[in-house]
Amino acid sequence: MFSYKLSDISKITKSEYAGKSDIYINHIQIDSRTYFDVSQSIFLAIPGKQHNGHSYIKDLYDKGCRNFWVQNNQTYPQFSDANYIISKNVIDAFQCLISNFRSKFTFPIIGITGSNGKTIVKEWLYHICKQEYSVVRSPRSFNSQIGVPLSLMLLDSTNNFGIIEAGISELNEMVLLEKMIHPTIGIFTNIGDAHQENFKSLQEKVQEKMKLFTHTKKLIYCSDYEIIHAEALQLQNTKLYSWGFAENSMIQASVSSKGSISYITLHWEHKTHSFTIPFTDKASVENAIHCFVTLIAIGISDETTEYFIDLPQIAMRLELKSGKNNCTLINDSYNSDFQSVKIALEFLSQQKQNNNKTLLLSDVKQTGIPLDELYKNIADLINQYSISRVIGVGTDISKYLKTYIPQGSYYESTQAFLTHFQTHVFRDETILLKAAREFQFELIAKQIENQTHQTVLDINLNAIVTNLHYFKSYLQPKTKIMVMVKAFSYGSGSFEIANILQHHRVDYLAVAFVDEGVELRNAGITLPIVVMNPEYGMMNQLFEYNLEPNIHNFSVLQEYVQICEQYPEKTFPIHIKIDTGMARYGFSPEEIPLLSKELPLISNCKIASVFSHLVGSDEARFDDFTETQIQLFKTLSKEITKQFSYPIMLHILNSAGIERFSQHQFDMVRLGIGLYGISSLNDENCMNISTLKTFVSGIREMQTGTTVGYSRNGKILKPSIIGVLPIGYADGLSRKLSNGVGSVIVNKVEVPIIGNICMDATMIDITNVDVSLGDEVIVFGKELPISVMAKKIGTIPYEIITSVSRRVKRIYYFE
Ligand SMILES: *Cc1c(COP(=O)(O)O)cnc(C)c1O
Repeated sequence: MFSYKLSDISKITKSEYAGKSDIYINHIQIDSRTYFDVSQSIFLAIPGKQHNGHSYIKDLYDKGCRNFWVQNNQTYPQFSDANYIISKNVIDAFQCLISNFRSKFTFPIIGITGSNGKTIVKEWLYHICKQEYSVVRSPRSFNSQIGVPLSLMLLDSTNNFGIIEAGISELNEMVLLEKMIHPTIGIFTNIGDAHQENFKSLQEKVQEKMKLFTHTKKLIYCSDYEIIHAEALQLQNTKLYSWGFAENSMIQASVSSKGSISYITLHWEHKTHSFTIPFTDKASVENAIHCFVTLIAIGISDETTEYFIDLPQIAMRLELKSGKNNCTLINDSYNSDFQSVKIALEFLSQQKQNNNKTLLLSDVKQTGIPLDELYKNIADLINQYSISRVIGVGTDISKYLKTYIPQGSYYESTQAFLTHFQTHVFRDETILLKAAREFQFELIAKQIENQTHQTVLDINLNAIVTNLHYFKSYLQPKTKIMVMVKAFSYGSGSFEIANILQHHRVDYLAVAFVDEGVELRNAGITLPIVVMNPEYGMMNQLFEYNLEPNIHNFSVLQEYVQICEQYPEKTFPIHIKIDTGMARYGFSPEEIPLLSKELPLISNCKIASVFSHLVGSDEARFDDFTETQIQLFKTLSKEITKQFSYPIMLHILNSAGIERFSQHQFDMVRLGIGLYGISSLNDENCMNISTLKTFVSGIREMQTGTTVGYSRNGKILKPSIIGVLPIGYADGLSRKLSNGVGSVIVNKVEVPIIGNICMDATMIDITNVDVSLGDEVIVFGKELPISVMAKKIGTIPYEIITSVSRRVKRIYYFE
């Protein structure tokens, strides 16, 4: 188990140690927001680009934490009864400690890198090897400079096999990971163009990744990637296990498939190995062969062949959906070991929309720990995360967890639970379903989920966080960020998005109308919220819900003054909008002198900020006008702020402004469309976040001369096959995309829309594609960008994404 005395940490990492009690540290915590046992943990204060860990030390101290690992050029509070490890560079020191820890283990450790498939190969190998070994592996895709050491901390003397992922995006990163992982066996999955922007060439990237294998005794890879093969041949002292479909491969692979099964044969050194997998796609075949060849290299391939036909689909996604009776459902069937239960519980605890939190948990599959201890640890987690209701499914959990959480309900099997389903009422709660795949919790999910139709908007919460960080990269650390979540977060969701933003510590949220703000407050959002367009007569509600109005004309100001007079003992923060060219809301330049006179007369008025809005920050042809707006804003805002002795924030930049005019960021910026994946610079770091998906619900053959749909607009000019999709303009698919203007993607092929789009249905021409009923169809997403779709019908991405109707089910996921 990971356990170091503070004085040993300081010695090993050549850091300073200041403190009184030289205690044992069993855990290193990097996130101040998640629960941890303060008595045995040290908080590692990472001076990150986005957040500086040192600024959370006071909070943690108040929560009882006394052990802090800090960096010596950073400022942090000094508490007399706290212990400090002080390092030149905390990440270097942390990694150095982990190298030391890793060196205590002599069992084989597999290191996996490559552009794709790392996590699947890791999980499959685990699935197969756990029959023979006690395996420790990286949780989810923890593969970064921080994720790798956190993974390695899980190494334990009860294990006899490790599988660790390594991911890099820049030069010189792999050496650091190699030092820690020090793999004895390597797998290089493949190479693609991910993270290419930081490398001069593909070769340079392969060379960088190959550094993971400097000390491995064996390396497994596919020699069909010639560039990987060439670099692998440079390795010294490493035995190569290269396989390929190309002729004369060292391990000659061949594959054939029938139905949903692939038959794979490998020839090597006069021996033939055959196995089958329950997948036929190229990536799965490649991943499975990597696993098989690895087992050859370890020397246990013969015993494990039979496991391949049961390789599980690896659900990497943790999904959030709406449920019946105002429930929220979190579905995580990734796997069910202790680490992943912990990660899922953390995500559950970030959800603020319901006070009641319910855990539906199956038997936990964790090797190497006695069941009693395992379930005691799980009971501790359940208590720490204040779970209000626990339902356990499985024979182990019923036996062991029951002793620690006797108030829970327990069932021997999923079927047994389903027969008693009616006795449980789920209402106003957030429910986490966490189960090993064989428990088939999808049957339970079906009962709780809102059964809306199968057109869904899939929303990638990781991508939202990536985009937030991308826009923050333009900002100075002190610049605040307000995120626009008006119009149902540009069509992407309400509290689901706000929760993420709150968790990632944005400074403000902004909505258009009062009821949008009320909805967020009712869902437990505590961030400051600005209402851009407070409607007449709503001022009372605003203050009741602690929402901050944008005062944009004298009549709104009038209303505000009346409220202020009613509550002389209170102060209500407001935001003042100046019109510098939009001619929408905002005080005009002529009104500013009068406004500046009136504002100081309101005794309990607190002006939080003064702002304006740019009309064309995304277009170069308006750059002169943008500059004029900014200059005007500077002058006018000064007239107001100089009336007050306290600081007042200024802000003018929207998303495109952040990218193109970051020199004018003032005190805060207002991020909108950029968060949702649209970059005015088309920067690749700004990722698509949503995919509108439906499926083929009907297929028919059509003869020449017939027509498809209303008004006979879809003329059939040659024998054709037409697919029907259950999505129409009532779902937000613009009717302007009718008659070949728009297209969709089915089975990776882009096909045209034929005829007029109907209210609830759309027809597509699938004559040239192999399509079956039920196949997935992408209406927009990464492969079919919203911006392209917008151009086709003469509108802007804003309109496309905000038009997706509320009846389309939103599914939020984390990978
Ligand atoms: C909507 C809005 C924004 C965000 O604009 P984007 O172009 O989506 O970044 C900023 N400020 C105000 C006042 C807005 O209404």
